[in-house]
Amino acid sequence: MPELPEVEGVVRDLRPIVEGKTIATVTFSDIVYASHEAGKQAIVKNAKPYQFEQLLTNMKIEKLERRSKYIFFHLNKSGESFILVNHLGMSGAWFVVNDVLEITEEKFRKHIHAVFTLASGELLVYADIRRFGELRFIKELADHPPLLKMAPEPFDDSACDFFLTQSEKPKFAKKAIKEVIMDGQVISGCGNIYATEALFKLFIHPGRVTSDLSREQKTELFQVICDVLQESIDSGGSTISDYRSINGGAGTMQHRLKMYGKKQCVICETNTESIVIGGRTSTYCPQCQK
Ligand SMILES: [Zn+2]
Repeated sequence: MPELPEVEGVVRDLRPIVEGKTIATVTFSDIVYASHEAGKQAIVKNAKPYQFEQLLTNMKIEKLERRSKYIFFHLNKSGESFILVNHLGMSGAWFVVNDVLEITEEKFRKHIHAVFTLASGELLVYADIRRFGELRFIKELADHPPLLKMAPEPFDDSACDFFLTQSEKPKFAKKAIKEVIMDGQVISGCGNIYATEALFKLFIHPGRVTSDLSREQKTELFQVICDVLQESIDSGGSTISDYRSINGGAGTMQHRLKMYGKKQCVICETNTESIVIGGRTSTYCPQCQK
């Protein structure tokens, strides 16, 4: 799923196009409506699609913000503030076009699930091939409690101490280090790609028990995670499988990855191995990572 750098890229690209604009109307796909009729909630969460349509009409998009792997659309209507929270799931993508036919990749064009028509005439389009993404309307973070449990932003001054404290809790101390650094309640926004890269840089085996690492090692690991995330943000993120920046744009971080998805170690040329940790495939070098 898109990680912090990819979501940051989407927000940076969308911001100048949609901030300050007003949503005239919103429509959802037949699949979204049908799923709600069937008692499920494809993409639109915690409200019926028609309620979303009514709520969002004539709302002004005041500000876009990334928090962890979420996109927050800060909205305002008649002086009242709201937040539309979007998670891209596995394959969510945003487009700003005058006509949906401008979306050239057919797999996205065929899976358009929300169209926000802006008062300026442009269409803000949300496509999602696998439909694991979410659109959720809240007044404050407490309306969706998981948002309150997010670790601080990794680049905040408090984030490293927060990580160290969390990692010493019994709930995390006995788990594999890779599972712990990928937990959004410990570090915000570090998923499989960047956890794999950071552990390889420090030659730490992904299955190492967290409490085995010294405070110094964990501090160094946190710094390397921030460095890798920053390098990816600067490269426009990793364009892997169905991750896209807005309008189908691509980043270049995928060319800079040293371990994620690799068959051979770039240092010792040993064949890499994979194990499943916390439900995710973890690639590592059996020679270099201990
Ligand atoms: Zn190696």
